[in-house]
Amino acid sequence: MTSTNQELWLRVKGRLRAEVGEDIYSSWFARMDLEGIEEETVRMSVPTRFLRSWIQSHYAERVLACWQAEQEKVGRIELMVRSSVLRPLPVKPAEQAVREIREVKFNGDARYVAGPVSAAHDSLGGSPLDPRLTFESFVVGRSNTLAHAAAKQVAAARRSDAVMFNPFYIHAGVGLGKTHLLQAVTWAGNAAGERKVLYLTAEKFMYGFVSALRSQTAIAFKETLRAIDVLVIDDLQFLQGKSTQAEFCHTLNALIDAGRQVVIASDRPPSDLESLDDRMRSRLAGGLVVEMGSLGEELRLEILKARMNAARLHHPGFDVPLPVLAYIAKTVTHNGRDLEGALNRLLAHNKLTGQAVTLEMAEREVRDLIRPHEPRRVKIEDIQRVVARQYNVSRADLLSSRRTANVVRPRQVAMYLAKTLTLRSLPEIGRRFGGRDHTTVLHAVRKIENLVGNDTTLAEEIELLKRQLQE
Ligand code: ADP
Ligand code: MG
Repeated sequence: MTSTNQELWLRVKGRLRAEVGEDIYSSWFARMDLEGIEEETVRMSVPTRFLRSWIQSHYAERVLACWQAEQEKVGRIELMVRSSVLRPLPVKPAEQAVREIREVKFNGDARYVAGPVSAAHDSLGGSPLDPRLTFESFVVGRSNTLAHAAAKQVAAARRSDAVMFNPFYIHAGVGLGKTHLLQAVTWAGNAAGERKVLYLTAEKFMYGFVSALRSQTAIAFKETLRAIDVLVIDDLQFLQGKSTQAEFCHTLNALIDAGRQVVIASDRPPSDLESLDDRMRSRLAGGLVVEMGSLGEELRLEILKARMNAARLHHPGFDVPLPVLAYIAKTVTHNGRDLEGALNRLLAHNKLTGQAVTLEMAEREVRDLIRPHEPRRVKIEDIQRVVARQYNVSRADLLSSRRTANVVRPRQVAMYLAKTLTLRSLPEIGRRFGGRDHTTVLHAVRKIENLVGNDTTLAEEIELLKRQLQE
């Protein structure tokens, strides 16, 4: 592509943005690329079929007009779907090895990359799927047995089967396998060919699906939903905005009422989704809610072994001795992403220098991935439970409006701990403490902060509570 074409393209995009406004532009055009200009035809691409058909049916003339305003001779625009495979870039030899390493497919399984499976998913406008994230590459251990079993069940169900648990809701911290499991459900569910499984990130749900639905009639909306047997939504905590939530509730209710399966993952339980209203939260909590705990050392070792074996398919010379794997499993405790990172570094080092992987190399390479004091995820319920026990009051007392001294102080302590040990906002904490105002929470936090400065007994009590909660 010549630089003048790129400059031209920038100007066309600028015009388009000015015409349709920032919101529409970022929803539909942000990922449109220029592929080339031949004679009077401009070729552009977008990442999904859904985007293409949407732009074609709603904005084709606008886009053409913007082109013509910059370049009179343009008579036609063509929109195509970019393949999800990386386009070959001109690579300098020094970068080649690094690039190969980035492209390692850990389970070496490219069966699902193309073909009808992704076509069904694509035509519904799904988010991109990673071919590595399948059930075959998912290692089952104590912390994820139940989530895995339920996911398998959902993926294997037939259209005629009654839905067993709806929605199926998984929550876990970062890097513990939520996306892996959700995409596995999508691959496996679609592979059978009978049902259509649509995987959407919450972001995609907001910026693609919802706007598409909004512009349709009620009948068209039902038609669209009828095409989906299983709706999978990842990272629900990112769903934002009142109208988006209304659409989400609408979609969820319509699907569940029609006997379609809904699968959701989030970094927190339904009760902690501050942006959703009570009815929605209880609907989400009404299905099967499963938490995946942190990966135990055994599970981490199994994941590393599986990864290494997969990497060896592409890099036969690569070998990590068992003691090195065991060392990584023992020290890199944080999450699955860091395990992958650790192994990738060893692979990179090994490829670039030709040195065999040793324990010393591993110690050096993974040093910064080791986080010795990984704090536990603390939940507001746990705080209330532990504080209530400590001060010999009931949890209901903490949430109540009673203002006697024997509950006021524990309540303030609990709110203070909620603020310092969790990432919840003041309004959210207020809501979880019997629907209190955020200023009440702020007052409690300040109060305790002031007290611990002078009152060593209270300071010790709080230290003790913190330790109990974080162990
Ligand atoms: P999350 O979506 O919960 O943040 P991911 O699903 O993206 O986490 O997982 C992070 C990384 O860890 C991925 O590379 C994933 O394949 C890997 N991983 C996590 N749990 C497992 C598991 N049980 N078996 C195999 N790989 C796992
Ligand atoms: Mg994820």
